Amino acid sequence: MAGFADLIQTADWKKEKHVPVIECADKVAAGEFFDVTVSLGKEIAHPNTTEHHISYIKLYFKPEGEKFAVHVGDFSFWAHGASAAGANEGSVYTNHTVTCSMKTAKSGELVALAYCNIHGLWESSKSVVAS
Ligand code: FE
Repeated sequence: MAGFADLIQTADWKKEKHVPVIECADKVAAGEFFDVTVSLGKEIAHPNTTEHHISYIKLYFKPEGEKFAVHVGDFSFWAHGASAAGANEGSVYTNHTVTCSMKTAKSGELVALAYCNIHGLWESSKSVVAS
């Protein structure tokens, strides 16, 4: 039986364009909002065309010492140049990057999941110390 662990790939984002890059402060104030930016292709650009693009990024947080992850946010990217005139003829594109705001009372691990419409699911993580 296949599980999510079999479906999700990871790698070094500096060498693999599908790996989400999580950027935020390494240390944050407990209980105070801070910004988290998740993007792709910081080193090697990922295509953004009607045929090949990043459809969504999801962000989770696993507080230290807790059993379950918390789903922080879902970010869908819908515009990839599709139009009545044809593929890539549209004038609007969403870029696969998002900044959201969150807070946590505990330190833990941010985990991001990105979905490429033809290359599947990719993950990465970053620890955050809250004090
Ligand atoms: Fe791809």
